[in-house]
Amino acid sequence: MNRRCALATVIATLSALFASASCGAPARARAPRLVDHHVHVLSPQLVSEWKSIGVPFSKPDEHYVAVDALLERAQLDAALLVPMAHFYGNDEFRGALELELEAERARVAHENDYVAELAARHPRCAALASVDLLRPYAFDELARARRELDVVGVKLHLRSAGFDPRDASHVAELARAVAWVADADELLLLHLDVQREDLTREDVLRCLEAAFGPHSGARVVIAHLGGSGGFDARTQLIFEACVNWLERERAQGRQRESFWFDVSAVPLLRESEGVPASTPAELDALRGAVRRIGLERLCFGSDYPVFDPREHAQALAETLDLDDSELEQVLTVRAFARPSPLSLLR
Ligand SMILES: [Zn+2]
Repeated sequence: MNRRCALATVIATLSALFASASCGAPARARAPRLVDHHVHVLSPQLVSEWKSIGVPFSKPDEHYVAVDALLERAQLDAALLVPMAHFYGNDEFRGALELELEAERARVAHENDYVAELAARHPRCAALASVDLLRPYAFDELARARRELDVVGVKLHLRSAGFDPRDASHVAELARAVAWVADADELLLLHLDVQREDLTREDVLRCLEAAFGPHSGARVVIAHLGGSGGFDARTQLIFEACVNWLERERAQGRQRESFWFDVSAVPLLRESEGVPASTPAELDALRGAVRRIGLERLCFGSDYPVFDPREHAQALAETLDLDDSELEQVLTVRAFARPSPLSLLR
């Protein structure tokens, strides 16, 4: 699949991101508890560089560069802040900005710094560091973030990185990243979907086995139930592969209790910038999938600012067919519970 297509996909996603942030439901006196594992924050520099290549932003910058209004309005109990630093490693984006390697690397560091500093100012927030897994400085930047920043884990976006699950060298890098987070009991938020259109269930199974096999205690959240938003046939294929792998693992005595899936952008109750609303058949498949995987493997994510957390929680309540206590379980589980060493010193 060519790179232009890949960028078109990313730009479409980002256009959705910038165009569809909404004000959400009116605040109630005492909102039900909500823990959001997927809140994107961008630095002002990234916002302005995105604008410079023509990506439209429909909201004032504070929706993208700050979380104060979000925390106030959505009354989140906790939020995991996710940098978009990895996007500077995307071939098309850095090409469009004509970035040399050192300039790209400096921007990645700046983006991770920005999000970590924001999290440090808000006791209810924690931050991840993000890198493009296949760029030459990826692990040096993760080491710097662990050393200098108060991060609780790593975000990887395999689609943006051009990751190919049939390329052994790519899979080896993912295995290295899993070892990296597992060794420090950090969390990996993994956008598992890739660009390959001919992706098979076996590709995903082999990739999971190679990357996660040796680390039975690894903490991971698979973003968007394995896909890139919605619950279409492709997402269902990836999700099925994950379920099959977890069943195999269980049969061999490995429960993988810290292997979660976030439901960010999964039920789409309305069309969003070219991404169609979920069909009734897809929503049926989603309800079946949630029962099959077990609620204890789900955690809440909104993909803010693509979706407002309270609106998305409401969409889940309407579509997942859960009773109140089941819904509360999904909305309040916290996969990043471990306080980081630096936060204990604060
Ligand atoms: Zn995201």
